[in-house]
Amino acid sequence: TETSYLVGLIGTGVRPSLTPAMHMTEGRALGLDYVYRPIDLTAAGVSPDRIGDVLSWARTLGFDAVNVTHPCKQIVMDHLDDVEEVAATLGAVNTVLFTDDGDIGYNTDTTGFAHGFTEGLPDADLADVVLVGAGGAGTAVADALLRLGAAHLTVVDLDVDRAGALAHDLATRHPLLRIDAAAFDKLPALLPESTGVVHATPTGMSEHPGIAFDASLLRRDLWVADIVYRPLDTPLLQAARAAGAATLDGGHMAVYQAVDAFALITGLRPDADRMTRHFRQL
Ligand code: NAD
Repeated sequence: TETSYLVGLIGTGVRPSLTPAMHMTEGRALGLDYVYRPIDLTAAGVSPDRIGDVLSWARTLGFDAVNVTHPCKQIVMDHLDDVEEVAATLGAVNTVLFTDDGDIGYNTDTTGFAHGFTEGLPDADLADVVLVGAGGAGTAVADALLRLGAAHLTVVDLDVDRAGALAHDLATRHPLLRIDAAAFDKLPALLPESTGVVHATPTGMSEHPGIAFDASLLRRDLWVADIVYRPLDTPLLQAARAAGAATLDGGHMAVYQAVDAFALITGLRPDADRMTRHFRQL
């Protein structure tokens, strides 16, 4: 069996990512010779639209797999031999395995959100969920929520066209489920009727301080999941706890996207608790 792995992370601005450290530390713990390097397209002077070339270079140079991130998760799909069903449905790939059968795409953002959610909020009522933020991360989260059994999902974004487009795509992919879009100013009417809310905008990061919506809408019966993970304890989560709500921080998604990618790459089951403890020390 294979014990040596070479893996890359392709995207722009990927150098500060915590994902390489997570993979390499877990690889070492499992006795593997596991090297994971960021491949920063900006630093390399390579335009993201050359992702197809970058994949073929990586394969030729002996990489076993790569993670792919902003801004290549969608365009990479045109350069693969096959895409696993969940990723194909979502229309985005963040993990590519270079196999004897070709280059195969997967999406562990969406599976990672689902695994982290199931672990961290196992009793969450999914009857009526609001998603705030319809960008790339919000799309992966929305698909995960629907796979987990959300009965009614409402997508909200400051950009109402973006919310509408995502809701429309989701409804096409999941024709039997109830999926709506709503304008941002409808949140005061929506949240009192909801069982949970997932926040997927950059608000709460140091460059985007604050809370994306009115914290007085938080209450004990409304679980709150944030996907921001820098910081882990966001103002939104602090306000949700103060309101007595069950909460889930963005570290769960960040760790489980790596757990799921590591499992795909090595065929081994990584120790998710160990990876979580390590991530929370980074
Ligand atoms: P993006 O720019 O693609 O999308 C963000 C969306 O939020 C946009 O549609 C924007 O219009 C909307 N928005 C911004 N401020 C808003 C507000 N106050 N109210 C309502 N909508 C608002 O970004 P993305 O790639 O989807 O990432 C969003 C955030 O998710 C990142 O900043 C990052 O912190 C987090 N993220 C976490 C993980 C994880 O593993 N935990 C993974 C990916 C992204």
